[in-house]
This record gives sequence, structure tokens and C-alpha cells, in this order.
Amino acid sequence: MSHEQTTSLDALLSRMKSAAAPFRDTLREVYESSRHPNDGHVADYIPELARADPEWFGVSVVTVDGQTFDVGESDQAFTIQSVSKPFLFGLALEHHGREHVLSKIGVQPIGEAFNSITLDEATNRPFNPMINAGAIAAADLVPGDDFPDRVRRMRSMFGRYCGKEVYIDNSVFASERATGHRNRAIAHLMMNFGMVDGPLEETLELYFQQCSVIVTARDLAVMAATLANRGINPLTGEQAIAPEFVKDLLSVMHTCGMYDYAGEWAYRLGVPAKSGVSGGILCVVPGQIGIGTFSPKLDAKGNSVRGIRVCQEIANRFGLHIFEAGDRTSSLADELTPPRPV
Ligand code: GLN
Repeated sequence: MSHEQTTSLDALLSRMKSAAAPFRDTLREVYESSRHPNDGHVADYIPELARADPEWFGVSVVTVDGQTFDVGESDQAFTIQSVSKPFLFGLALEHHGREHVLSKIGVQPIGEAFNSITLDEATNRPFNPMINAGAIAAADLVPGDDFPDRVRRMRSMFGRYCGKEVYIDNSVFASERATGHRNRAIAHLMMNFGMVDGPLEETLELYFQQCSVIVTARDLAVMAATLANRGINPLTGEQAIAPEFVKDLLSVMHTCGMYDYAGEWAYRLGVPAKSGVSGGILCVVPGQIGIGTFSPKLDAKGNSVRGIRVCQEIANRFGLHIFEAGDRTSSLADELTPPRPV
């Protein structure tokens, strides 16, 4: 190794130490301060979800160049639930294009609950892909030769985002299938208006399976970092989604991703995010980082209480709001990215 190379390697290592170590400390500090009070309620309308330990709390941050920062139970497995929704919307877009997908699913936020049985009266479309109606319509658009092939495509898509093979939690899946009458009602209403083609039970099975994909907070952070990185998984280098559709996912997450708290979240945090009833939140800071959080206790709108708190704190501390005025010369990504050796 030449003298010059040694010097640049030293510089790289010391720069990494100087930026990454304080960030790790800050993350731990933010994590600790977000723990209490651990209020809210674990979701129980899908009986299997009620078995979650209310004390679980994990947070992960992954940068667009693949550095990872974990605190707490970031390896605890849970089911992805509604956090799956933007990704299925992406799969539908890649296969059918914008025009067809938008003829079946709107992109308009509604201040109603995620499981609301409402369609847009003028177009008969579900309002957006982040509520159950829109997500079931997106699942209907997943192509395949037969049902196993459709499930395979859904799983391999999540595999690209997570950088590993993903599995379905069969007891949550069975629990959803046994109790999902409201989702069946929504699907039938959409079939009545020609918004889904069916076979309906098969599409519902696919939807219940996508909700039952097993992830960790770390996985959510990798998925978020993939979206932050123009669709390229920063750990594997694999293109998880065509780059032209990344903005479609981020836009609907930004306007509709946090249920009927979406407007407030966009105002306060200013970064696209998606939550799920098992307690996960996935949050994307475009061009910089992905954040994944998991804590099962939810507020009245169905968002993780500690997840909101910790994301809010990270966004505030590092000025992540995408509409933050001022110059961006000192972005968090620049802080954490070591210079390349010359
Ligand atoms: N599987 C859940 C349902 O359909 C997903 C809902 C959610 O996470 N909000 O009700």
C-alpha cells in the first residue's frame, strides 16, 4: 500500500468514527427519550396481533451508502401489515403503467380510517392505495400465471427491498383470513363497480399474505433506504423497483401514509412514511437515509405511539423536513458518508 493510500484510508476511518459515533450516540439518546410514556394499545382486531409484547421497541437507520445503525429490538420479527401497501402499488405500476393503475386507484387522501368502506362517488375508485380498499385493488393487479406465481412475485419483490428472502407468518395470515370480513365487504363493493377483476377470494388471500410478510425494524430501514436511493438496495446493489416509479410511492406515502394523521405528520415531520397496525413505521428521507421503527402500542388512529415520537425527534434534530428552508450543504448524508479513497 502506498503512502498516499495509507493516508486516505486513515482519513476515511477517522472521518467515519467522527461522524458515525456521535450519530449512534444521538440515536440512542433519542431512543431512550422516546420510550416513555409507553401509552396506547396493542392492536387486537386481528387476534394474533394481540400477542405482541407491548415493551418491544426497535429503531434502525440505514444510509443510502449502506451504513446501518440499530437501537433496541431492531431484530424483533413482526408482520409488515399496511407498511406493505406502497410496495404493492409500486409492483402494480411497474406491470401496468400509471394510466391503467390510476384508472383503478386514486391518489387522493381522505381523512378517514384505513378500513373505511368508501369509494370515490364520481369515479368508483378507492381514494388511494394506502387505505385497505386501494391496497386490495393494487393486490388485484399483481400479475402471475396462477395464484402461487402471484404470491411468488409479491415475495420476491419484498426480497429485493429487504435484501433477503422473506417469509409469511402463517398464524397471522390464518387469523386475518378468518376475521377479514370487512376487507371482503370492501372487495365485493369494488367488484360491483368493476374496480377489481378477481378471482376475488384469491386477491384477498394475496392481500392477507402481503400483510403477513415477516420483517424487522432493520428490514423496514433497508426498504426505506432503497426508496431513498432511487430504488437501489444499498446493501445488495439490487434494483428493487424501476427508478421512475419511486416518486409515485413517495408521493402517496407523503400524502396518505399515516392514515388520518397523514396531514399532521407531513406538516410536523415532512418526510414520506408508512405505518402498519402491528406497530411498524417506515420513513424515507430521499437521497439520505431510511428509518424503520417498531413498537406495538398504537394511538387512536392506528399509528405506533413511540414510533411517531422517535421519528419526530430524529427529523427535528437533523432538520430532515423536506421543505426545511435554508442551504443543505450540511445534510446528514454528507455527515455520515466517508470520503472515497483516491
Ligand atoms: N391486515 C390489516 C387489515 O387489512 C392491515 C391494516 C393496517 O395495517 N392498517 O386490516
